[in-house]
Amino acid sequence: MCNNWKDDPEIQRFRDYLRIPSVHPNINYEECVNFLKKQASEIDLPISVYEVVPRKPVVVITWQGSEPQLPSILLNSHMDVVPVYEDHWTHPPFEAKVTDDGFIYARGTQDMKGVGMMHLEAVRRLKNAGVRLRRTVHISFVPDEEIGGVDGMKSFTETDDFKKLNIGFCLDESMPCPENAIIAFNGERTNRELKVTCRGTPMHGAQLLPGTAGEKLHFIIDKFMKFREEERKKFEAGTPLGEVTTVNLTQVEGGVQVNVIPENLSVSFDIRVAPERDHDEFENMVASWCKEAGEGVTFEYFVKNPLVKSTRTDSSVPFWGALKDTVENMGIELRCVICPGATDARHVRRRGVPALGLSALARTPVLLHAHDERVHVDVFKRGIDVMENVVSAVANV
Ligand code: ZN
Repeated sequence: MCNNWKDDPEIQRFRDYLRIPSVHPNINYEECVNFLKKQASEIDLPISVYEVVPRKPVVVITWQGSEPQLPSILLNSHMDVVPVYEDHWTHPPFEAKVTDDGFIYARGTQDMKGVGMMHLEAVRRLKNAGVRLRRTVHISFVPDEEIGGVDGMKSFTETDDFKKLNIGFCLDESMPCPENAIIAFNGERTNRELKVTCRGTPMHGAQLLPGTAGEKLHFIIDKFMKFREEERKKFEAGTPLGEVTTVNLTQVEGGVQVNVIPENLSVSFDIRVAPERDHDEFENMVASWCKEAGEGVTFEYFVKNPLVKSTRTDSSVPFWGALKDTVENMGIELRCVICPGATDARHVRRRGVPALGLSALARTPVLLHAHDERVHVDVFKRGIDVMENVVSAVANV
């Protein structure tokens, strides 16, 4: 049974944030920044707005700990949301309507304005209750995660301002879980976007000679597809998606006319390399396929993200133990997996800071980027309870 959300200020503030249409493309973040300034002033916490890239604000609200010299805790969320197909929505995606059965419908409820508001509301509750934590807690709201975070978290992590935050542990986003469990992400796969171009001798379509672009393209596609098949078998046998390397053919280009054997044909692949796979070995394998395919076969990477080490989930990261105990003591299972996609946490991990994705959205269908994205009011409230305990635990480590 949902609680009386109509008089609930936490629900009302969440809905106010959801109503800001910070949706791609060309987002104006001003309204988000103003909303967050208002929140910070209500909670009586200092707020900083960094513009590493103009019009791409990074907002940081800071709650100083009793031992501010200790490495701090960062609670990160992104302000942007992905576009919507409004015709497919039962309720308008930027109205944040609450239905009679207690669901808040809006883009960003799950990904990830809901998580950002849980961070903020957890700190608001703790501070209002007169609690004082050992470590400083920074709550950040960043732009452009949904388009790779290059002008957002990535740029910010390269600044002195980021270094000065002295972060010891970061929490970011994961995904909802339909069961009574919370998903944590401790690592991500490495994204590679590759284009292979095959050059051959152009000739009349009636010829039957070797060395055509088509033969070389066939060889390349065959290699990638065989590799893909092996990984698909592992996935079907139960290996989580984040732990297999996915290869998908996404574009084929070339040719001029049906009766002309072309000079150029190219094929592009979206590749996500699993953290456990040897990245150099994988790259060498791709290079050797291109060599074997014959003369005139070249490749280039559009995206070649570096390997980022996963955050360890053992006693070497004491924050992990504190977090796990806290969630489990609340009767909720904590499932830690490798993120099948990508989040801003990778930029933080790249700076050597342990980071975990954690969206406290148990008993919730997975509707990230989907039509009718929604969260139940009770789930949101429970998520704040979880974050209140988690923030206390990790900031007191
Ligand atoms: Zn997200």
